Amino acid sequence: MNREKLTPMMQQYLAVKDENPDSILFFRLGDFYEMFFDDALLASRELEITLTKRDAGLEEKAPMCGVPYHVASSYISKLIDKGYKVAICDQVEDPKLAKGIVKREVTQIITPGTFTDTEYLKSDLNNYLLSIFIQAYYINLTYSDYSTGEIYFIEKTFLSKAELYHFLRDQVDRISPNEILINEEEIEKFKKSLKKDNAFLNAYISENLKKSNLIKDFGDYFSDTFKDNLKNFLDKNNINDYISLKKLLQYLVITQKINLKHINNISYYNNFDFLFLDESSKRTLEIVKGLNTFTKKGSLLDVLDKCSTSMGSRKLKKWVESPLINLEKIERRLNLIESFTKDLLLLDKLENILKEVYDIERLVVKISNGTINPRELVSLKSTIENSKKVKKILESQDNFYLNLLSKDFIDLDDISSEIDNVLIDNPPVIIEENRIIKEEYSKDLDELFRISIEGKNWLLDFEERERKRTGIKKLKVKHNKILGYFIEVTKSFLDQVPEDYIRKQTLVGSERFFSVKLKEMEGKLLGSKERALNLQAEIYNKLKDFIGKEIYRIQILADKLSDLDSILSLAKVSNLNNYTRPKFNNDGFIEIKEGRHPIVESYMKDDFFVPNDTFIDTKNNMIHIITGPNMAGKSTYMRQVALITIMAHIGSFVPCDSCNISLVDRIFTRIGASDNLAKGQSTFMVEMQEVADIIENASSNSLLILDEVGRGTSTFDGLAIANAIIEYIAENIKAKTLFATHYHELVHLEEKYDSIENLTIAVDRQDDDIIFLRKIIQGFTNNSYGIDVAKLAGIDNKIIDRAKEVLAVIEKENEGISIDLNKEFVKDEHENPEIMNFINKLKEINILEINPMQAFNILDEIVKRSKEL
Ligand code: ADP
Repeated sequence: MNREKLTPMMQQYLAVKDENPDSILFFRLGDFYEMFFDDALLASRELEITLTKRDAGLEEKAPMCGVPYHVASSYISKLIDKGYKVAICDQVEDPKLAKGIVKREVTQIITPGTFTDTEYLKSDLNNYLLSIFIQAYYINLTYSDYSTGEIYFIEKTFLSKAELYHFLRDQVDRISPNEILINEEEIEKFKKSLKKDNAFLNAYISENLKKSNLIKDFGDYFSDTFKDNLKNFLDKNNINDYISLKKLLQYLVITQKINLKHINNISYYNNFDFLFLDESSKRTLEIVKGLNTFTKKGSLLDVLDKCSTSMGSRKLKKWVESPLINLEKIERRLNLIESFTKDLLLLDKLENILKEVYDIERLVVKISNGTINPRELVSLKSTIENSKKVKKILESQDNFYLNLLSKDFIDLDDISSEIDNVLIDNPPVIIEENRIIKEEYSKDLDELFRISIEGKNWLLDFEERERKRTGIKKLKVKHNKILGYFIEVTKSFLDQVPEDYIRKQTLVGSERFFSVKLKEMEGKLLGSKERALNLQAEIYNKLKDFIGKEIYRIQILADKLSDLDSILSLAKVSNLNNYTRPKFNNDGFIEIKEGRHPIVESYMKDDFFVPNDTFIDTKNNMIHIITGPNMAGKSTYMRQVALITIMAHIGSFVPCDSCNISLVDRIFTRIGASDNLAKGQSTFMVEMQEVADIIENASSNSLLILDEVGRGTSTFDGLAIANAIIEYIAENIKAKTLFATHYHELVHLEEKYDSIENLTIAVDRQDDDIIFLRKIIQGFTNNSYGIDVAKLAGIDNKIIDRAKEVLAVIEKENEGISIDLNKEFVKDEHENPEIMNFINKLKEINILEINPMQAFNILDEIVKRSKEL
């Protein structure tokens, strides 16, 4: 394209576009944001808006499309949702004063991870921007929700590559960022190993920041509070290398282009402060997302979240994802929940107040960038007033924990009373011509508004009076920018014009006049409205500035309100669902009486959830091997033990009659042959990688939930592996383990190890049908009841009957074949009755035509693998 031929405006457009190649450029022209060339083609397709053309000075017209500026946000949100960035290019000088073409500049780049429009953001989810820095064995991560101003930092050293990506995968899953920044050389590896395509991925802005000083570089953009907190944070945590943090702040500065006054604090997210749940366990236990829904529906979070505010829902999600391991902190939450479950009226009262509380956590970004509207400030005022009510109520309770909690609610009277002094009680959202400032706040403003209103009335009066005096019915008082106020008379009435009118302008069909009185009034009137609005804006800006200095205190209040909301939600749910307060022990056991699965029971309508007891410890009840028919409730039982344990760590009441829990360091949940096709890995491979991870990371303080592990391969293979895993846990890891399996052969391990106990789920047979009793009992079953389950599932009777015939034959033929994995096989095939027996049995049932050597190899392989694992 020959740029010299372009019109000056198009040249300006392209110059701006050159600086923002990876954003769709919204270029302000009059009342529209216009897009040109490739951006226009793309945006018209993505937004389904009409593509037009505009003369750009070239032979061919330029493709163009546009959206009206006052509805731009809905279009921007659509583009952000699709993973694009949008650069907003506005006029930065008054077009009236511009010499030549109006100056335009990009005032903000809106990106998926910095999007703040509360109308389009999901209210119960944080919108995180994650910055990742990886170098050799070291990783640091910083993530921030720009809409609330939160920033968190994590770092880890001395990791192998595999560990590093494992760690990263778990963190990315937990943080669930909408946008990611990463050092360029890691991008491909990241994409490959995380299969992350739903988060917008950026390479770091290349400018080298490594040696620069963070505070020096960006100091102008941040509040003093942030600078102080940042310095303390870096010193306290001994952090030297924090490239991800620098890059994240740099990105915010470059995209937002304004002061970031609502970023005031930074926290260290220390993995060791929380009960670690890896991505796979979180998914299979449905902690924050249902397995089938991929949304909150059907998850533990869904059951627990009865928050009254979005701030509360976001906070509760953090609690649920990161259960505590500090007993003192857990007990603090439990004490509060118990206080509220004992006083439901109080719970109700506080909940009603919180329902009136506004999402002030997401208001702060608007205070920071000055876009907050008067109605939102009044909401801030009422939220502060409501939190004061909360404080008073908590103070007045005869309860130590609630009195202590009341101290959390800091005094923000200065802010609410300032808003109350300045703004009317129900101000409009849009200021424009409306009055938003209270009467008597400013005498000058009152006077200007009075003149402007009176003036308007005076003009109407004047027009009426003049019509009567002159008899000219169509006489009109009008106003334009050049003449100011004037009287207009159509040609046919010119002879009735009185002598005191002074002719000013002649048009085709009419003449325009002044009068002395009108001129006098004009002096007062002209500009009084404008001056009133200017003064009003000035007062409003002062108010915004005042509040802008107090953002940090507002954030502290928001934090405390969301804590309270989460506690109230947990109390409410525990009351609704009959949960009890967990107890804790240091003796390594978990005892649950009449435990229930919180999610399954919430979905049961008429059916009754059958509660079950659990006792599991690090001695004689360490590993439970659970056999039983399909669909009997094995998975439900195991997951309920994990979920009750997790809930206790969250500091929530739990679904059981009583429980006593020893704190655990990690909970691993692995489901055999889980379908991980989305990640492009064979299911058995995934299964084994997950087992490897457990072997590596589980300790005697962990809780392991293993469901059908070993299933993803052939029977003998799988059995051997399952056997070896259980032995390894019993001998080396010594972690509390629930292991559900179809390999009935494994129940013999109970005899070998004191720490192993067999459990099964009771079923009853009535005539030809099985009935699931859902009760966990000691013992085992050597029947999978597969055919019975098939029958229950509605498979045709003919097939069921045939299957029974086939089973009878197979069972008869199979009798006597069993492999003792704990035996060493001797290679001398002719003298080994074990092997000969095995071969004969196989031959009898025509399964395999094999020679003794092959049979030896099969058996040897099984034993070897079981030992290797
Ligand atoms: P398994 O793992 O033995 O195949 P599941 O744990 O998947 O069986 O249970 C199958 C279904 O049985 C569950 O989806 C649930 O609806 C029901 N169920 C399981 N446990 C119970 C229980 N304790 N009380 C009532 N229903 C249950």
